[in-house]
Amino acid sequence: MEEILKLVARTPSGRNLLEKFLPLYSRKQVTLQTYPEAIIQELRPLLPDGQTVGATWTEKDRVIYLDTQGPIGILAPFLVHEMVHVISTKKGTERELDAFETQTRFTQELKERDPEYQNFLLANYSRTKLTDDWLAA
Ligand SMILES: [Zn+2]
Repeated sequence: MEEILKLVARTPSGRNLLEKFLPLYSRKQVTLQTYPEAIIQELRPLLPDGQTVGATWTEKDRVIYLDTQGPIGILAPFLVHEMVHVISTKKGTERELDAFETQTRFTQELKERDPEYQNFLLANYSRTKLTDDWLAA
């Protein structure tokens, strides 16, 4: 988890987000956990090969679940998306747009910072279409 937070901190939008997120995190008002194995077992067969389950924010339990079996370069944008949900007060469609906007900006910033990341995403990210909202449905 340490490693993925460091990756998030590499971009301006990630650092911006962490400023609001980390105080909650250090007070344990939100925790990061790996998905329960039972959920992974259930979802993995539904996904194309190599695709990650991603991340989900469960407000009730104040937990962001992460598929830690995936590469952190893939997981980081998912985590960013969920972190926006944690700190956002927006509702409905606006809430989603807000999270996707930050997720997209973060990914863009990582690409600009590290051209290799772009190639890495092309190789891996095109298969990653699943969002938390699909899981929440
Ligand atoms: Zn969302």
